[in-house]
Amino acid sequence: MFQVSASQGVTCIKMGRTMLGRTLRTTCSFIADGLAVEGGSPYFKAKLDAVYQEHQPRQAVFTHGHEDHAGNVDLFNKLGITPHVHQSAINYLASPPVIPYYRRFVWGTPAAGQSQIIGEVIETEKHAFQVIASPGHSEDHLCLYEEKEGWLFTGDLYVGERIFYLYKNENLPRMKETLKKLAALDFSTLFCSHRGPLQKGPEVLTRKLLHIEALEEKARALQLKGLSLPDITRQLLGKEDYMRFISKGEFSKTALVVALLNHGQKR
Ligand SMILES: [Zn+2]
Repeated sequence: MFQVSASQGVTCIKMGRTMLGRTLRTTCSFIADGLAVEGGSPYFKAKLDAVYQEHQPRQAVFTHGHEDHAGNVDLFNKLGITPHVHQSAINYLASPPVIPYYRRFVWGTPAAGQSQIIGEVIETEKHAFQVIASPGHSEDHLCLYEEKEGWLFTGDLYVGERIFYLYKNENLPRMKETLKKLAALDFSTLFCSHRGPLQKGPEVLTRKLLHIEALEEKARALQLKGLSLPDITRQLLGKEDYMRFISKGEFSKTALVVALLNHGQKR
């Protein structure tokens, strides 16, 4: 699946590898007034190249270093653009590590390339995007806030209201702090790098935060009843499924429950 659409002056490119008629995982990248936000999946490099030839972005920001956002850094370099990223993503993008097979299958293999450290504001002809540090999903995560337009580009911070899994490297307490901080901003449209544009942005983020807090309470209550970790996981989120298997444990329900319980205890 590869679709290009536009709303409120922002071009949204939605892409996702399909298998047996099913889209595996949708990823979005955006272009707003010559600024590319995210660079899409390497699997779609050739199609993205055609879109960028047509839209001619002049600068780029990647919200973090993961391959479905930054794996086409080489394509931008070829277009004469050195994407802006968090300082800690620069070396990662210059020599990306070998990623697990399931990620290469879904998104493609990330290429190496040059990026540059982002400042506090990214300016285009019409807009000023404030750069907001937003750790949680990853330590190098950034969001872009265009106050005048009421836009917030949230990278992988939202993705969905409900969470069932956690990546080993995700930090749940930081994610909650960041959600709280961003929900307090004055904006309307949330541009999610997997869902695309969503309205009532602050409400959307608050609902996710409340969902995590409710899960924490439930996990804690089950632990107090004396249930084991596998039993708490099963009751709260259902059985572990193929995701844990194909990710070799990098992405699992158990990891989420461990994080919920640890954080619950520290409060
Ligand atoms: Zn990510």
